[in-house]
Amino acid sequence: MLNIIIFGAPGSGKGTQSDRIVEKFGVNHISTGDVLRAEIKKETELGKTAQEYTSQGQLIPDALMVSILAKVFDGFKDSKGVIFDGFPRTIAQAEALKNMLAERGQMVSVMFDLEVPEDELMIRLIKRGKESGRADDNEETIKKRLNVYHSQTTPLIDWYKKKGIYQHINGKGTIDEITSEIGEIIKNIL
Ligand code: AMP
Repeated sequence: MLNIIIFGAPGSGKGTQSDRIVEKFGVNHISTGDVLRAEIKKETELGKTAQEYTSQGQLIPDALMVSILAKVFDGFKDSKGVIFDGFPRTIAQAEALKNMLAERGQMVSVMFDLEVPEDELMIRLIKRGKESGRADDNEETIKKRLNVYHSQTTPLIDWYKKKGIYQHINGKGTIDEITSEIGEIIKNIL
């Protein structure tokens, strides 16, 4: 099974590229942000908890996030592969993902890091907020999310570099250029 992590700051294009990879390679997509937004919309207990954190631009606690992830992942048992979008976001989540996959005889195949300059991220996220109405795409929350990304999530770059599965991608290229760069790397893995 192909287990792909798509990594990058909020607004780096993880969702867009995930959709393309799903189409090209027939893998399943797990976006933890989408899972949480669906729960918030349904007003479940989990949704209420998630809302408290997401509205502040903070991360959902690791233990809760890991249990949600495992449940969703086990729903894709006979899948060709999975693309993890928005997970892991902390070292603890990366450790948990490694263990969860190992328990199932699997491992992460590759981690793509979409790097986009900060000023470009701000522009993209403010635009997305206006177009989609996503509650956390307002200037104040965006700044908090970018701070959280720098302090809690970027340490994963070195973590995956050490595992030898890190792939840097220039996230400022066109959507098509980025898809084909990612696609070539996946083809080589296959
Ligand atoms: P995203 O759509 O991936 O930008 O996620 C939106 C929000 O959901 C984040 O700002 C977090 O509050 C929460 N979230 C999504 N994925 C995770 C995760 N792996 N760990 C903790 N919180 C998460």
